[in-house]
Amino acid sequence: MSKPLILVVEDDTAVSNLICTTLEMQSYQYNAVKNGSDAIQGAISCRPDVIILDLGLPDMDGVSVIRKIRSWSNVPIIVVSARSEDRDKVEALDSGADDYLTKPFSVDELLARLRVALRRVRFDSEREAESSVYENGALQIDYAAGWVKRDGKELHLTPIEYRLLCLLAKNTGKVLTHNYILKEVWGNTTPDDTPSLRVFMATLRKKIEPVPSEPRYIQTHVGIGYRMLRQQNSGNET
Ligand code: CA
Repeated sequence: MSKPLILVVEDDTAVSNLICTTLEMQSYQYNAVKNGSDAIQGAISCRPDVIILDLGLPDMDGVSVIRKIRSWSNVPIIVVSARSEDRDKVEALDSGADDYLTKPFSVDELLARLRVALRRVRFDSEREAESSVYENGALQIDYAAGWVKRDGKELHLTPIEYRLLCLLAKNTGKVLTHNYILKEVWGNTTPDDTPSLRVFMATLRKKIEPVPSEPRYIQTHVGIGYRMLRQQNSGNET
């Protein structure tokens, strides 16, 4: 991928400048807009590789912008919001955002999130031509045959653990909210059964993580959800 193009949607000039300067220094290309309708227009006309989207925009709700864009595009969307807006973040993720940054954020955080998002794009397009086998670090899943291996050794997962793992794997790089996972895995509509999800996650981690207390595959987002991380050859992804 040569010089990825980032669409920056942020009405706060100081934050927008910070993001754009960072992108420029890392030789990303970017387009900056300040409201929701320009964001939707920009997503159509300049076909960005990643969108960084502030949730509090002057003309429309950031979540509506996500829903509009998701109706035709799978482009990674990283939302930016203030710490007090956890509920908004969850809603944004459930509407199709990939990830979030909490203001104030560091330049390093921003760049790390961008790398994760860009890696998802790359693997998505590679995967289109691929077989049914998912590979991530030492972890392998054969969706067709229904087995999971780590370091070549088959793991014995319960049906729920397997469904949970497949859901996270199919969304590698993307933060999935508790409610989304509960709905997809259990078909649950009862609100907030996060405690039991946490229990299943703990047993799944014991099986797939080399060191369950320091998970490197499945990342916890406190109060929000979980994410499968793409492993670089041997190291940890940040
Ligand atoms: Ca704003």
